[in-house]
Amino acid sequence: MPSLTLGDFELSIFSDGTYPLDGGAFFGVIPKIMWSRKAAPDERNYVRAGLNSLLIRTEHPRTGKQNVLVETGMGNKLSERMVKFYGQPAQLLANLAAGGIAPEDIDIVINTHLHFDHCGWNTMRDKSGKIVATFPRAKYYAPEGEWQYARKPSERDAISYLPENYDPLVESGQMMLLKGGEEIISGISVKTFPGHTAHMQAVIVESGGRTACYISDLIPTTAHIDITWGMGFDLYPLQTIESKKQYYAKAIAEKWLTVFTHDAKLAWAYVEKDEAGKMVARGA
Ligand SMILES: [Zn+2]
Repeated sequence: MPSLTLGDFELSIFSDGTYPLDGGAFFGVIPKIMWSRKAAPDERNYVRAGLNSLLIRTEHPRTGKQNVLVETGMGNKLSERMVKFYGQPAQLLANLAAGGIAPEDIDIVINTHLHFDHCGWNTMRDKSGKIVATFPRAKYYAPEGEWQYARKPSERDAISYLPENYDPLVESGQMMLLKGGEEIISGISVKTFPGHTAHMQAVIVESGGRTACYISDLIPTTAHIDITWGMGFDLYPLQTIESKKQYYAKAIAEKWLTVFTHDAKLAWAYVEKDEAGKMVARGA
């Protein structure tokens, strides 16, 4: 479990495990001869994708101590058919417990978007089979536009949205919907970066003059740091390129730490441009 201090905050990665993803879908229009040098596929053409959640432990004079969890992995409610494709690693709660964090300890949960592999542990089934909040005390946040879209997704990505991950929380008032740009608590804010979906929001963490960003599926792994290396899943590939340019203009200039949702090996790194203009990821 990688950990580091960012100003007054302590940042840790907790994984929900890894899962197989088709390499072609993961790297979109990039030829296999190129992506396979960065992510070696198995005999079925699958590469290993990670499910990295970010825990931010804050110590702030005004807001006190809070535990903020960004993203909740794939969870344990996948259908049999989806389990055939992805397995169901479901390790997040066990990994949090090993780090001394119980579900009741989480004060805030933030979802960057509502695809099933980002909000799966938002909810779980209790003994009677009822869907309940996994983190009972937490306030949940997700992008409003994403939630609106998820109610009527396109045929292309309908499979990615499982309403039981968020609808019960919106109905009970436990999930708040964000326009984009809000500061959730002092030092933790969201910003919309369209491309992967129209309303995906990155989470920006600032303390002591340093910044980290959970950039989510805009740049899912260190193999995707080049401007043109988008995922086949991206709904708006040209916007992905524009959003990456916008992100790097700040993140490279101000030396932000970038957190990668789906990187099974390197959960965070500093992205830099080398002399030849090529993007490189330098470990933290
Ligand atoms: Zn996604």
